[in-house]
Amino acid sequence: MKDNLQYIRDAKRSEFETVCRNNGLALTIQRRTILDALALRNDHPTVDQIYEDIKENLKGVSRTTVYRVLETFVSIGIAKKISNPESKARFDADTRRHHHLTCIKCGKVLDLYDPALDNLVPNAGSLREFNIIDYSITFNGICACCRDRHHLSPEQDRSCPVDTVCSCK
Ligand SMILES: [Zn+2]
Ligand SMILES: [Zn+2]
Repeated sequence: MKDNLQYIRDAKRSEFETVCRNNGLALTIQRRTILDALALRNDHPTVDQIYEDIKENLKGVSRTTVYRVLETFVSIGIAKKISNPESKARFDADTRRHHHLTCIKCGKVLDLYDPALDNLVPNAGSLREFNIIDYSITFNGICACCRDRHHLSPEQDRSCPVDTVCSCK
């Protein structure tokens, strides 16, 4: 999981510079910091979570600014906005094809990498001439933390199976 995050962060940094240059977008400290914060998390953060991560380093930045910058990343293709049952938008720095496991109790979104799901082609008849550009499958369910929280001692409870901040406590 750590290696994956490191890969995403390094890939994001160089991709970001190229994409900014191509789009005539200034490489501001604000954009760099927000991109780094996004790429360092694999829990598909909300605007509020990114804001909490960067507010110490970017004095005076507002939630609205964070939202605007994240939307810019989505529009230039270096981040994705993911759909989930909550109304809050969540962002993903990993734009490679992958899928998601969404916990209906705590809202946590985990990545799912499974080549068997990567090349699905719907039946032509059901497509009605719709051109698919991309897709991501979301499986809704209960995460391990939520499943186990009533059966574990506080000591065990800290060992959440993913190295992300568990939001279900
Ligand atoms: Zn959960
Ligand atoms: Zn993801």
